[in-house]
Amino acid sequence: MANLPILQFEEKIVETVEKNPVVVIIGETGSGKSTQLSQILHRRGYTKSGVIAVTQPRRVAAVSVARRVAQELDVPLGEDVGYAIRFEDRTSSKTRIKYLTDGVLLRESLSNPMLDDYSVIILDEAHERSLNTDILLGLMKRLVRIRTSNFKVLITSATLDGEKVSEFFSGCPVLNVPGKLYPVEILYSKERPVSYIESSLKVAIDIHVREPEGDILIFMTGQDDIEKLVSKLEEKVQSLAEGSCMDAIIYPLHGSLPPEMQVRVFSPPPPNCRRFIVATNIAETSLTVDGVVYVIDSGYVKQRQYNSSSGMYSLDVVQISKVQANQRAGRAGRTRPGKCYRLYPLAIYRDDFLDATIPEIQRTSLAGSVLYLKSLDLPDIDILNFDFLDAPSPESLEDALKQLYLIDAIDENGAITSVGRTMSELPLEPSLSRTLIEANDNGCLSQALTVVAMLSAETTLLPGRSKPNEKKRKHDDSNLPDGSGFGDHIQLLQIFECWDRYNYDPEWCKENGMQVRGMVFVKDVRRQLCQIMQKISKDRLEVGARGRKSSSREDYRKLRKALCVGNANQVAERMLRHNGFRTLTFKPQLVQVHPSSVLSTDNDGMLPNYVVYHELISTTRPFMRNVCAIEMSWVAPIKRKIEKLNVRKLSGGPASSVKEPEKKTELSKNDAEAPVVSENVES
Ligand code: ADP
Repeated sequence: MANLPILQFEEKIVETVEKNPVVVIIGETGSGKSTQLSQILHRRGYTKSGVIAVTQPRRVAAVSVARRVAQELDVPLGEDVGYAIRFEDRTSSKTRIKYLTDGVLLRESLSNPMLDDYSVIILDEAHERSLNTDILLGLMKRLVRIRTSNFKVLITSATLDGEKVSEFFSGCPVLNVPGKLYPVEILYSKERPVSYIESSLKVAIDIHVREPEGDILIFMTGQDDIEKLVSKLEEKVQSLAEGSCMDAIIYPLHGSLPPEMQVRVFSPPPPNCRRFIVATNIAETSLTVDGVVYVIDSGYVKQRQYNSSSGMYSLDVVQISKVQANQRAGRAGRTRPGKCYRLYPLAIYRDDFLDATIPEIQRTSLAGSVLYLKSLDLPDIDILNFDFLDAPSPESLEDALKQLYLIDAIDENGAITSVGRTMSELPLEPSLSRTLIEANDNGCLSQALTVVAMLSAETTLLPGRSKPNEKKRKHDDSNLPDGSGFGDHIQLLQIFECWDRYNYDPEWCKENGMQVRGMVFVKDVRRQLCQIMQKISKDRLEVGARGRKSSSREDYRKLRKALCVGNANQVAERMLRHNGFRTLTFKPQLVQVHPSSVLSTDNDGMLPNYVVYHELISTTRPFMRNVCAIEMSWVAPIKRKIEKLNVRKLSGGPASSVKEPEKKTELSKNDAEAPVVSENVES
């Protein structure tokens, strides 16, 4: 730790921070920005007048760095040094250095817009350009104008264009902390391999057999590929003749690993042992693994992208940018000269890779952020003239406004409603917070809390649900409930209630293929959401911390109705002549029920006439994930609302930058009973 590059610049950093409200610090990954800056300022007395907050775009990084800093300061985690991520707060009144996700800081600023508990806010990993960090940049710009004393903002980044950020903050100083990177030899493949897994395997084993000691870091796109490669590597390493090369340990590293598995990569390997770390882009800049000398770079990353004209998410494997490629290569040169094996030709890097990664704000749904900005109620801030480092497209703002209007969060003039205000207090995406509020009004809050908690933890629950191409276990293979023909939300409710009847027995989870850790998390999330609802609800809530042991069909009906209101922008109707559904609210799309759904015909499900879905995702085809049957009479008011929709008014009048859509709506003319496929639908 003593020789981290940033520590040699301590005096310069402190002096610059002393004289300026905002400072940008650019430093190589591993130079000590995340772990040391907070400690430097703590040593220099900045925690006397408030807490030092350090934001991280990733939950894993917030936890891991807080843990490290607590260790370095030799204090118990959660006291002087703590962390706060959504649904998990490990801080106390003693906390002086607080690591938190950027989303959590945004939420805190709702209840305390001046953020006056904090003397310093460090926006770390700004190069990741997460949506939340981008919004925080705008808010910080405003805050430093208002809080003129006792307040410092630092923006740190591994690769960010420092000048651009400095310009954004009226020419604030930019400090460059030169890293001590050793040279990295870059080796390109002649062509792209047919299989990245096989090719990575071959290169890794070649290195292991031929090259001197040093760990190997392999970048894969996601958990599935990581697991496959890890098992192939294990097999291969075992088959090598004993004594022919050094020992090997193989570690996966991705965001869904339990924390204790993630931190294993930080402990040094035993002597004469090479580590293979198979990671997602989490190891690009968020987590620095020491000891890496060889990097294998597939050139790809898995990215969630949102298409605002179709309302559809896709999880695409896309090419990385040049910046990312160079970050990956840099991981090889931290301890001594290294090698980076790029599994793509130089020409592809040079001609096809984008220079920089596209910021999240330009590839995600903005409904949550627009609602957030509207709920801030700051007279000088509104969504259309918000000061963004890179502005989102008018289409995505328009899409967000339409979504919010359909779920009653804003009125026809674009003003936030009281429902919208309550929604913004819940740490959930808009459709889920709207569902909870509706459920509270019609007496099924307990059930809705369970479903929302289950959806929030879904990827850690049922293996089949998180993997788009894998079918969920058929219900006759296990004793899991099947949603009684109403769909996935009801099934999620029934699963939790079933577990409750077994007194939250971990054995029950194991027997039924559910992840114990995930279910325990659901229970905790449910409890927290219940507390928040208690706080914000004017009426006394009739809901216990434990939920119901068994809901009736009438409860299901109420819950489905609440889900319909909360997901009014995500309704689809059955196509009689096609084996699928057509979405109602966006440009009509022909979509299908995801094979993982209990309603899927693959699972012998019966298709209802109307459904709401939690998410539209394009894999091989457009699929609705987490689907729930609703009734036709509930859809009528939504259709009327869609017909009335006037985007220009929503965005605050003619002066707005949001364009009127070219065709007002193709949806209204369609007959609910015999939907017509519109031209832009591909069947
Ligand atoms: P930067 O933010 O500039 O990328 P960091 O402060 O994250 O740098 O890392 C500085 C050093 O601390 C690195 O050598 C890294 O390996 C180490 N480090 C960071 N987090 C942990 C952790 N949780 N456990 C052990 N070492 C860590």
